[in-house]
Amino acid sequence: MINVILNKADFEYDIYGIVKAFFPKEEVECYYTNDVDIESKNVASTAHSVDKADENAKFWLDVDFKDSDKIIKMTFFEKGKEEKYKCEFETFADDRKKTKDNLKKSVYKLMSEVSNKELPWGTLTGIRPTKIPMKLLLEGKSTQEVFDDMKAKYLCSDEKINLSIEVAQEEIDILKKIDYENGYSLYIGIPFCPSTCLYCSFTSYPLGIWKNRVDEYLDALEKEIDFTAEKCKNKKLNSVYFGGGTPTTLLPHQLDRLIKKVKSSFDMSYCVEFTVEAGRPDSITREKLEVLRANGIDRISINPQTMKQETLKLIGRHHTVEQTIESFKLARELGFSHINMDLIVGLPGETIDDVRNTMEVLKELKPDNVTVHSLAIKRAARLTVFKEHYEKMKMINTSEHMKMCERYCREMGLVPYYLYRQKGMAGNMENVGYGQKGKAGVYNILIMEEKQTIMALGAGACTKLVLDEYNQDGNRKIARVENVKDVKNYLERIDEMIERKRSKMEEVKWH
Ligand code: SF4
Repeated sequence: MINVILNKADFEYDIYGIVKAFFPKEEVECYYTNDVDIESKNVASTAHSVDKADENAKFWLDVDFKDSDKIIKMTFFEKGKEEKYKCEFETFADDRKKTKDNLKKSVYKLMSEVSNKELPWGTLTGIRPTKIPMKLLLEGKSTQEVFDDMKAKYLCSDEKINLSIEVAQEEIDILKKIDYENGYSLYIGIPFCPSTCLYCSFTSYPLGIWKNRVDEYLDALEKEIDFTAEKCKNKKLNSVYFGGGTPTTLLPHQLDRLIKKVKSSFDMSYCVEFTVEAGRPDSITREKLEVLRANGIDRISINPQTMKQETLKLIGRHHTVEQTIESFKLARELGFSHINMDLIVGLPGETIDDVRNTMEVLKELKPDNVTVHSLAIKRAARLTVFKEHYEKMKMINTSEHMKMCERYCREMGLVPYYLYRQKGMAGNMENVGYGQKGKAGVYNILIMEEKQTIMALGAGACTKLVLDEYNQDGNRKIARVENVKDVKNYLERIDEMIERKRSKMEEVKWH
């Protein structure tokens, strides 16, 4: 347990993020001294008074904003011992962003000293680090200037800066080809899966329970489709993505119905990409793939996660390695020319040799895209509940693992084209999407860089409206509209979900 004590309700999220990144296995709690009015709505909802702080915490980080308007002092105590570390830094009354960057740097340096560690992404704790180089490159900065800026402001490693610049350059190149400023994308979530994976934190329910109500689910989706098509009729639809869950849990005629509904409801003439996540090999059949091909879809994802049978069993994926390989070969035979494969590094019990073996199999198959995920332990996942048990089996992801995957991808002719991070990631790494030139997934970039509005339909789907206003980082603000997660609720409250979207779209100025 680490206690962070603040005497001002400010930047707690940023401080927490860095402390947690250095000590991922420790619980970190923020407390306020009596100087802070905890009843105030400006204070985080999880705020506690310092009286509630656990006396036995391993470390206490005292952040003292009060001494002067220009200096924030921090003291790091180890319980029962003397004050051990201390640092001070300058704040800028008229520049909150600069103050935040400075504060994060100070906390970083202090944590680094205490833990004797460096973090690959430095002070960047957010999930979209490539937004920074992308913005700077679009402003006309050279790659050297971007590098220097990221090094000085965020203390990232050279390797991660170079990776994020390469990704940003690739993204800019790909996005040049579409008029994304005047467009939007469509996400349709199918929240059913053959079984639930150990690490799953998505909206996913076992198909077995819901199979008799899937048609009702499609009825509800069709209502959302009609609303969206009407509301967005003056904008260009740039990409469509069926995700979930596992869209290929739908029966062939249900898949056909849904795709035809989308194609007949929207003007598809500006749509550069239509992706269906086949995801789980145990949901793929020849008939389903034929339906996709007959509807002109040639971009799918078939996700092995690992090519080690023992791990598949352990993580609750009821398919074999052979099934993955056969599904891939079948898709190729039927003419799919954009196939992505997802894998996860850091799965319980997997060694670097297991990851190497997975990459060897992928190399044989030659997918057009590979997305390398670092295992993220999310609160909602079963993995969290049994964390102690699985931790005994070791969940390891180091930069050696990531570099090895990168090497394999480059040998396959794939280059990194999108990147994001998640909370609770093994080894504090990232997820990287690699693609063959000309075959990268445009939707992945649009959603990750928040470049345009994503209309999201289905249980648990979250619409992101890109607004005309900008935040302090110079990026466009986003308004979110969430659908309820629970399928039963979604079916019963579909009209309310549509009204939620309508009212938000009328309330804000979206782009
Ligand atoms: S396939 Fe994906 S959505 Fe389905 S249970 Fe596994 S992780 Fe969750």
